[in-house]
Amino acid sequence: MQATTFVEDWLCYNTTLGEGAYGEVKLLIHRRTEEKIACKIINHQRYKDAATNINREVTIHRMLDHENIIKYFGRRQEPLKEYIFLEYASGGELFQLIEPDIGMASHAAQTYMKQLMHGVNYLHNKGITHRDIKPENLLIGEGGVLKISDFGMATLFRYKGKERLLDKKCGTKPYLAPEVLQKPYRAQPSDLWSCGIVFVAMLTGELPWADATDRNVEFAKWRKDVYISETPWSKLGNTALSLARQILNLDPNKRLTLEQIEKHPWMKFNFDCGSSKDNVDGSVERPTKRWNSMVEAETKHNRDTPQVTLSQPIITYRPSSIDQLINDLKTTRREQVCFSQPTQYEDLMIQFTQSPITKDNFHNLSKRMTRFYVTVSYEKTLEALCSVLDTLHYSWTTDASGAVTISTVDFMKNQLIFKANLFEMDGRILLDFRLSKGCGLEFKKKFLKLKSCLCDIIDK
Ligand code: ATP
Repeated sequence: MQATTFVEDWLCYNTTLGEGAYGEVKLLIHRRTEEKIACKIINHQRYKDAATNINREVTIHRMLDHENIIKYFGRRQEPLKEYIFLEYASGGELFQLIEPDIGMASHAAQTYMKQLMHGVNYLHNKGITHRDIKPENLLIGEGGVLKISDFGMATLFRYKGKERLLDKKCGTKPYLAPEVLQKPYRAQPSDLWSCGIVFVAMLTGELPWADATDRNVEFAKWRKDVYISETPWSKLGNTALSLARQILNLDPNKRLTLEQIEKHPWMKFNFDCGSSKDNVDGSVERPTKRWNSMVEAETKHNRDTPQVTLSQPIITYRPSSIDQLINDLKTTRREQVCFSQPTQYEDLMIQFTQSPITKDNFHNLSKRMTRFYVTVSYEKTLEALCSVLDTLHYSWTTDASGAVTISTVDFMKNQLIFKANLFEMDGRILLDFRLSKGCGLEFKKKFLKLKSCLCDIIDK
């Protein structure tokens, strides 16, 4: 595999686990024990404000030790760069497990909700609030255990038993409690509100609103109690809806506390693992109902999604045509990698993907739903992908390694950037999509759209 020695015995793979606000997250593997850790690389030269924010993040993160929180191992500081070593979450981000407009099975959602509550309870008992709970910050570790990550917005709300009110507006809009925008606000109920939105997203594959403000039509309906026939609420069983209603209570003082959430009947219900969309009240969602909701949601999504092309390419290199791109790849890439030589197989994995893929860990990665095998060659796949991107008016660029960076906006008109990588696996080509920036659920919706446009070349 292509790797460089990071420090003695630790190899840093030419692979990116994810992209953060100040740089990339890479995978380090111990040469002998094969232990894996994640390394967040902060580029101080490029991000001048990084130092203060990272110091705050580390100060909090190093205090934490809980099975539902990504462990902090240490940091290494250099003049221009800084490395933060973290427990590696092999299962990726929670949003990868949420099917857009559908969600996930109730028993899985219940397991994650319980684990989320354990992690948040630990934080709150330590007087710490996360302030940016969302599926993109909830990672999945070994054995499918949920791990809270990214303490960039976290702060202390209780010290020596004395609680303080917070006044910094921070977090991610769709997950923000309404009082956060009206400050000052209490830390615990506002974190729990965000957990409530995660709960709804897990069960329905939808976010209820773009922001919890009076201007927002969906939120206004929630306020006025006239939401019942609307999605996502109409997709929830009675007991799940009762829990959502009480967590998403507009009054932070009446909102369920963490202990009350844990005691709610939905959290205690023994879901039958065999049934995928079972409701606590025993009813199973009718497929027609779900299909109708999906059609509704898709129609709405199309209506709200402006077809824009961002004029500024985010990467400097953009071939003027597909032919040029493929030619460029032939001259730049083929010298380094060869499809047919098994000896270079692992190099290929590393060069073509953002995570090192071996037969051993493939079962983990295949859980990710934003990838598929294709029936045609590397070049034809790239050609088909780029042509679909042009048809959909998604702006795209490619770098020298052949990764395609796709840039668009979501229905909230927020920037959405994701990457497509191709690699060969057992003689087949796998097309893999990964979110770089923006909402995970919106990314997955776009993925599904691309997938349906590419159905002719998908290996079923
Ligand atoms: P932002 O504030 O923009 O969300 P950040 O700079 O705080 O980003 P993280 O969210 O911590 O960075 O990490 C970016 C991405 O890297 C994550 O969304 C995840 O996909 C991946 N990642 C981060 N930490 C780990 C880890 N411990 N194990 C596996 N992947 C990780």
